[in-house]
Amino acid sequence: MAYLFSGPADLHLHSNHSDGTETPAEVMRQAHAHGVRTMALTDHDRTTGWDEAGAAAARLGVTFLPGMELSAKHEWRSVHVLGYLFDPGDAALVAETDRIRGDRIGRAERIVRSIGRDYDLSWDDVLAQTTADATVGRPHIADALIARGIVRDRTEAFDGILHPREGYYEPHYAPDPLTAVRLIADAGGVSVIAHPATAGRDRMMPVAFIEQLIAAGLGGFEIDHRENTESGKRALRELARKHDLIVTGSSDYHGAGKPNRPGENTTSEEMVARITERATGSAPRYA
Ligand code: AMP
Ligand code: FE
Ligand code: FE
Ligand code: ZN
Repeated sequence: MAYLFSGPADLHLHSNHSDGTETPAEVMRQAHAHGVRTMALTDHDRTTGWDEAGAAAARLGVTFLPGMELSAKHEWRSVHVLGYLFDPGDAALVAETDRIRGDRIGRAERIVRSIGRDYDLSWDDVLAQTTADATVGRPHIADALIARGIVRDRTEAFDGILHPREGYYEPHYAPDPLTAVRLIADAGGVSVIAHPATAGRDRMMPVAFIEQLIAAGLGGFEIDHRENTESGKRALRELARKHDLIVTGSSDYHGAGKPNRPGENTTSEEMVARITERATGSAPRYA
């Protein structure tokens, strides 16, 4: 199949279908305004933004790659697995994302109940910051804390009240990364571990485990991401070379919710081609 993709590619963008602050169409417009010409929408555990984003990208004359950031968990770590061009109707994947999103709601309510014992914050405050059916996460709790005047911005909320050290944190259900990689592969998609080498609690998984993910069909790593450490990037580049994996660079744009700007990191055309050639679950969209 022939399709168009040339120019800067940013394969990690969030809308208000999860914890971004803008509609899918607005995200595409912002990415375009920042010079991006191939863009993926990768809302957490949800694909409902694809049609709006795809239509917006077509109007802008750019290429849209359908994607998602699937929540997973390895030991204590929160692990995010980007999936591209999978079949959004795949029954196993739909069942798993339904389960994750459902559990995220109860978990957010528990966090808010706990915070509410010390601060003037209620579940209604969080609902007021959340669009209908959005994948609920701590960023929405952060927005409620901002609206209540308790913190200035999401960064302050994550550095303070929402940080696990403060004692309000609760995990949510998530499959282990092997399951996540297999689900995406079985749905015809290509998996890429998002920000695999951040500092702190979610730091890089052991190489031996990452090699199990590769054996299970992992496509590659998101290496150029502002939260990856320099030493982690070096280790990941070496692993990618050894196993001939896909490497990507992305912004992880969340609208006004994070300082990340579209196009601040990009993915090469060659790597975009490898993703599109390998995937069988859905197709890129363009005018
Ligand atoms: P959760 O999945 O509910 O635990 O929340 C994690 C989400 O919070 C991630 O997807 C990030 O987008 C967002 N996040 C993490 N740290 C920050 C931060 N410092 N500022 C804004 N958003 C953040
Ligand atoms: Fe997020
Ligand atoms: Fe992430
Ligand atoms: Zn993300």
